Amino acid sequence: MAILALAAPVLAGCQGDKSDGGNPGATGAAAGNPKIGVMIYKFDDTFMSYVRRTVEESGKGKAALNVVDSQNQQPTQNDQVDQFLVQGYKALAINPVDRTAVSVLIDKVKAKNVPVVFFNREPTAADMAKWDKIYYVGAKAEQSGALQGEIVVDYWKANPGADRNKDGKLQYVMLTGEPGHQDALLRTEHSIKAVTAAGIQAEKLAEDTAMWDRVKGQEKMAAFLAAHGDKIEAVFANNDDMALGAIEGLKAAGYFTGDKFMPVVGVDATPPALDAIAKGTLLGTVLNDAKNQGKATFDLVYALATGAAPKTDVAPMTDGRYVWVPYQKVTKSNYQQFK
Ligand code: BGC
Ligand code: CA
Repeated sequence: MAILALAAPVLAGCQGDKSDGGNPGATGAAAGNPKIGVMIYKFDDTFMSYVRRTVEESGKGKAALNVVDSQNQQPTQNDQVDQFLVQGYKALAINPVDRTAVSVLIDKVKAKNVPVVFFNREPTAADMAKWDKIYYVGAKAEQSGALQGEIVVDYWKANPGADRNKDGKLQYVMLTGEPGHQDALLRTEHSIKAVTAAGIQAEKLAEDTAMWDRVKGQEKMAAFLAAHGDKIEAVFANNDDMALGAIEGLKAAGYFTGDKFMPVVGVDATPPALDAIAKGTLLGTVLNDAKNQGKATFDLVYALATGAAPKTDVAPMTDGRYVWVPYQKVTKSNYQQFK
């Protein structure tokens, strides 16, 4: 009974993969291809769906990939790890649900000597130090925050009218991602640091989490507008989905018609965000390189599964176990090259 219950999420992952016709492990499952388990914290996350796609494409013909949805539940993910270990998977790639709860996962894989690549949600240094066969693929969140801040600084300097109340300060609101996520914490901090480093005083009117989610972003923006209205001079969002939600909330309040504009910045450079830049609603975003993060994740986990030295041509390895994929600023002047 317990085994059946545990097997379900793993099998569900296979059936969900239409590219392989629903055959378990059929993505490159030719004889001799190593079995690799991949867990995504939840499939219903816009950015992760692009990372997942590249992992799957990279694995075609080379590995028997089994990509499963951890459904935003750490206990579900723990069961999936158990199941992959029981089934003799050679290496795992894990996008943790709770990056502070990976210690127990590391104990499990270490006991079976199955190497792991964590990605997108960074374990603490203490957890990474627990074993030498664990790796991390991600991006430097500080950098994405700083680049967002620079986009707003450029706008502020080029548009004297941006300081609506003429007090010399930038009044802003902040939509944050999931509490505790390194990207939420560091983007929030470093976006504003870049503004003040440019000599502009910043005044926070409001900050709230919208959990990386577009609908929640719209709701929170409506609440910010109800409380602060025209006092708001800029909107920072930790990702594009929340920025796009905020734009919907702003549209409902009459923005983006006539000359009523609001500078809104996000992170990720998803296709809908690039469309919003083209339309002139989103001021800018930062490329969170899903393609190269997915490719580096596969390169490492494949090397580990085949007993090769872990390496990727995406970016150099730092400290022998970290791959940092660079961010890039995206605005109206260059967005076309990211389509
Ligand atoms: C992305 C978010 C995404 C999150 C998931 C972040 O790097 O910017 O869009 O929701 O990762 O962990
Ligand atoms: Ca002002």
